[in-house]
Amino acid sequence: MGDFCTSIHCMDGRIQEPLMDFLKKHYDVNYVDTITEPGPCKILAENTNKILVKSIIEKVEISIDKHKSKLVAISGHHDCAANPCDEETQKDQIKKSIKYCKNIYPDIEIIGLWVDNERRVNGF
Ligand SMILES: [Zn+2]
Repeated sequence: MGDFCTSIHCMDGRIQEPLMDFLKKHYDVNYVDTITEPGPCKILAENTNKILVKSIIEKVEISIDKHKSKLVAISGHHDCAANPCDEETQKDQIKKSIKYCKNIYPDIEIIGLWVDNERRVNGF
């Protein structure tokens, strides 16, 4: 997969390590470039806060251009303070976020992940 991948996920301290571990283990990368915002799948799915969306995309750009990342993971998690929607709603937001990023980066693999109430990471 390469040396780096990219993860867009929430700033929540509970999910950082599980996501790193999951991506390193399942995608054969050494490093995970992390882009954190409170509830980023909500930000990307709604696409109303253009400044924040632009900021996220600029960071993804660096990871892809400079670190040659070929994988972007977008995740949501249980009990998100910034995005208190249920799992199903968040997964819809993640799917929208994937679509949005796929438009910008058609050649990059973009995946959705969910971190559950036991901090387990699941692809979907
Ligand atoms: Zn959160």
